[in-house]
Amino acid sequence: MGIKTGLKNIAKDLFYYSGMSGVLLRLSLSRRYPRLLVLTYHRVSRASNGCGYLGVPVGVFERHVRFLRDHFKVVSLQDGLERLDKGKDKEMYTTINLDDGYMDNYLYAYPVLKKYNVPATIFLATDFIGEEHIFWWDKVFSIVSSFAPGPIKIEVGSENLSFDLDGIPKRKQVSDYINSILVTKEDAIVSSLIEGMEEKYLISNKTGPAAMLGWRHINEMANNGPISFGAHTRTHRNLSLLKDDEVLDELAGSKKEIEKRIGREVKGFSYPFGVYDERVKRLVMEAGFKYARSTIKGLNQRDTDRFLLRSIGAGSIPKESFLAARISVNSFKEQGCEGA
Ligand SMILES: [Zn+2]
Repeated sequence: MGIKTGLKNIAKDLFYYSGMSGVLLRLSLSRRYPRLLVLTYHRVSRASNGCGYLGVPVGVFERHVRFLRDHFKVVSLQDGLERLDKGKDKEMYTTINLDDGYMDNYLYAYPVLKKYNVPATIFLATDFIGEEHIFWWDKVFSIVSSFAPGPIKIEVGSENLSFDLDGIPKRKQVSDYINSILVTKEDAIVSSLIEGMEEKYLISNKTGPAAMLGWRHINEMANNGPISFGAHTRTHRNLSLLKDDEVLDELAGSKKEIEKRIGREVKGFSYPFGVYDERVKRLVMEAGFKYARSTIKGLNQRDTDRFLLRSIGAGSIPKESFLAARISVNSFKEQGCEGA
């Protein structure tokens, strides 16, 4: 399906669902080259279990996948980049990425991707594969979820924060804010701050352990399904805080581990937390990756830096009509530089 057809259909959806003006969409129809839209997710969960901090209910994920299949040409990330390099069509290619390697990717996302025969790439933090690991950002969400609704005060290190808590969206916002503070700190400091908060505030850990994928599941998906794998470091740390040799160990260690386990070259990398700087980007190239995905918002085209690929976070978008709107707005940010 050509970009015009795809975007015209989206325009119809937008008019149908929200009555939005089509001015922006008409402008976007004037493009004459292929583009690649990368949509990112983390967890795909059964709504009855609660979706966790980064989770999308499986029903919503399925509607997204169906919508993408109906409106775009959905390809693997590798394929999409090859098509941009050829640059001979006007197609809007789309690709799905899932980060971190949660077990629910196998349990809930994989059956949907297989059902619609839609490819996806899962980026793995390899030291946690096969573990009952809880990432620190999930612990923060558990802590924030344990408070009763109403005003709260919470200490994060030397910072005294005040919030007024109500439903889950607000609790996710508060967790985002706390996590944005923690991500700037050294690993050991993050661990001790979280332990302190858990001791002081956590009434009960309602979410339980967040099991990660095992190599058995990864191999099954690599061999049978339309799923490919990329690296997301060994331990999911903020690479900008580490020394060169530590960064290289995180990068090359995760790349080699996946290659050894699945028997295929790993070309793609995704920056943990979307954090990068020029030094980290150079080390990603030195570690042998061919491309890296950032959290800079927008679409990719032929001349987009292959080590700063743009993406759109789709895990918190509740309806396919909102997904259409997000894609439409971002189609004007091909060269944009927001977020990270
Ligand atoms: Zn991640």
